[in-house]
Amino acid sequence: MLLELQQLDDELRDLRRASAALDALKAENAETLSFFEARLSERAAQIKETQAFCEEKRAEVQQAEEDLRHARTRMSSISSQRELTALNKELDASRKSISVRSEELKRLTEELEEAQRDQAKKSVERAALEVEMRDVEARLGADLEARHAGASRIEGRKAELKATLGGALFSRYTRISKARGGVAVADASGGKCAVCNIAIPPQVYIRLQRLESLESCSNCQRYLIFFQGLEATE
Ligand SMILES: [Zn+2]
Repeated sequence: MLLELQQLDDELRDLRRASAALDALKAENAETLSFFEARLSERAAQIKETQAFCEEKRAEVQQAEEDLRHARTRMSSISSQRELTALNKELDASRKSISVRSEELKRLTEELEEAQRDQAKKSVERAALEVEMRDVEARLGADLEARHAGASRIEGRKAELKATLGGALFSRYTRISKARGGVAVADASGGKCAVCNIAIPPQVYIRLQRLESLESCSNCQRYLIFFQGLEATE
């Protein structure tokens, strides 16, 4: 009965650990997603900036083209070689300016499109990651839910064992369990306490093997039980 009590407590402890592990996983997932989210919005801001820059460049190209058209209309009113040379210089400068700005605009637009493609890809990845995380959380949660439902059965069985063992024995078990990391029962099969490894005196070991009496480890105070004997005699 003490061994069964220990096994029930082990189950409850595993359940608590699994709950804590799921909570930790959820927190970690949330952190990962918010990091992802922060990167995405950072990049969205950069894209917006590049878009504005593209607009600026486009306006500059339009203005330069406007200037070029305007200069051309003055060609018909030219009356001297000096004026013609000056106008040609102006036209050349305008063409050059358009060419340089168009090149810049092209480069910026490519950059922008690349960033937008990458952003779209990362958004899809983020969504997929979230689905995957929620799926794992839901599966673990459902599993845990089922185990929690079993916890009341465990508590019920513990109450039965308490009634059968008697208050004094149960209290001592609980005291040792609390003081010894939740483990109040140790296997004595190897002639030593399986938990703290202290050798069991031969006389005590003989009694344990006969399953005659209830013994405690002289070092850690845990209940010693000859597990092999339990298996053999049921
Ligand atoms: Zn011990």
